[in-house]
Amino acid sequence: MAPPQRCILAPARKCTQFLPEGKLQLMSEMQQILEAIQNHASSDEIVGLKLPESYRAAVVRKDEVDMWEGYASEDKDPRKSLHIDEVPLPEIAPDEAVIAVMASSINFNTVWTSIFEPLSTFLFLERLGRESVWGKRHDLPYHIVGSDASGVILRTGSAVRNWKPGDRVTIHCNYVDDQDPKAHDDSMLADNQRIWGFETNFGGLAELAVVKANQLMPKPAHLTWEEAAVNALCNSTSYRMIVSPHAAGMKQGDAVLVWGATGGIGGYAIQYVLNGGGIPVGVVSSENKAQLLREMGCEYVINRKEKGYKFWKDEHTQDESEWRRLGKDIRELIGRDVDIVFEHPGRQTFGASVFVAARGGTIVTCAATSGYMIEYDNRHLWMKLKRIVASHFANYKEAWAANQLIAEGKIQPMLSKVFTLEETGEAAYQIHKNMHEGKLGVLCLAPTEGLGIDDPEFRAKVGEDKITLARKYA
Ligand code: NAP
Repeated sequence: MAPPQRCILAPARKCTQFLPEGKLQLMSEMQQILEAIQNHASSDEIVGLKLPESYRAAVVRKDEVDMWEGYASEDKDPRKSLHIDEVPLPEIAPDEAVIAVMASSINFNTVWTSIFEPLSTFLFLERLGRESVWGKRHDLPYHIVGSDASGVILRTGSAVRNWKPGDRVTIHCNYVDDQDPKAHDDSMLADNQRIWGFETNFGGLAELAVVKANQLMPKPAHLTWEEAAVNALCNSTSYRMIVSPHAAGMKQGDAVLVWGATGGIGGYAIQYVLNGGGIPVGVVSSENKAQLLREMGCEYVINRKEKGYKFWKDEHTQDESEWRRLGKDIRELIGRDVDIVFEHPGRQTFGASVFVAARGGTIVTCAATSGYMIEYDNRHLWMKLKRIVASHFANYKEAWAANQLIAEGKIQPMLSKVFTLEETGEAAYQIHKNMHEGKLGVLCLAPTEGLGIDDPEFRAKVGEDKITLARKYA
């Protein structure tokens, strides 16, 4: 079927569109927005569009926070707690923008929100609600989740200088109040630093989103909406952990053990180690993931399932001989110990991670998926002068640098599968159950996959196979 003709933009709530058969069809405001985006409408044309009063969004509901009482973590099902609801569009603050979200992605924080662990994210929204008049908007009986997005700016607040309606953007999730003095060295150290769509409302798994201007970054022009949407959170996190002097600050020749090496953050970590002249040792749990890892250029691969490591004898006792077995396996692969351990599984692996790091080595941690009450043998830490470095997301400068590397084709998106907004619960379920590789994308306003490429020549130069590698293994 031929594409529908362009709609005449009108400030009314609905406008008409001529279908190829000559029939008239009413278009909703959201359809007009989508049409304008697909036609590369000018900034003035975008401003001329009326925004809808409400939009569809993936939410958890406050009256359901107790729904998982008595369930084990693994039995809590995001498909039951994540809903697609129609929500009102809030007024924006002077330093904010309204985004038409073309695509978003699932991060593990949406899993945490959907199973209300380790605590309900409504507590974060209540705290933000007490902070200011604008903060009060976030304290609602529903939480719009999602900490990634690619899309188009529809409106900017009066204090926004560097961006305008019509700009194509990706969104990073560091939500910082620039009036906090502590935010002016490393914004991750600001007292009220938050993660957008996790500790704030109006997140990215929705047709529209509200973000601060200092979350905006240019969309890599050679990527589709869904490829552009999956990177900001995980890519920036791994950039800070591996590259930035705020965390491990990897040097050329450093050997780096990466847990979950084809997962969300692990897949980007491997690329940073390779790009920076390091030697990655990737740990995964299936042959399919091992193959993906090899194709990404990681020569040294450990299949933890095949090896059957049991770092814990029982709930209370770790098994040092299993730590030694992992250390031996690493030495057999690369002939020495690793300088850096990229740690995030937490309780299950942390003791082993501290043990296998080389004398003077660094364990850089950003998470604790398998449990946050960590145990390790401190003798192995202090006697061998190792250090544990905490890392959390990335400041704007780091997120920008990580986005730039994507835009330059030096880091590839880890997108493996794409879901619709209605399937958000299913996508979160697959991450909760570790059924996925890389990143799972979600189409929000984008009607199909494959749209949004503005620079096909550069895409061809980077290479379709490289950009879409993770999809081969989905
Ligand atoms: P992900 O896509 O689920 O990948 C994590 C991978 O870790 C899994 O695929 C799995 O890979 C491995 N893994 C899980 N449990 C493990 C265990 N017990 N032992 C060994 N390996 C295990 O998640 P992600 O997006 O990479 O995020 C990982 C963690 O980091 C999550 O807890 C997330 O909340 C956190 N995170 C924190 C930040 C931050 O800024 N602080 C940012 C992003 C993510 P295999 O099965 O293949 O081994």
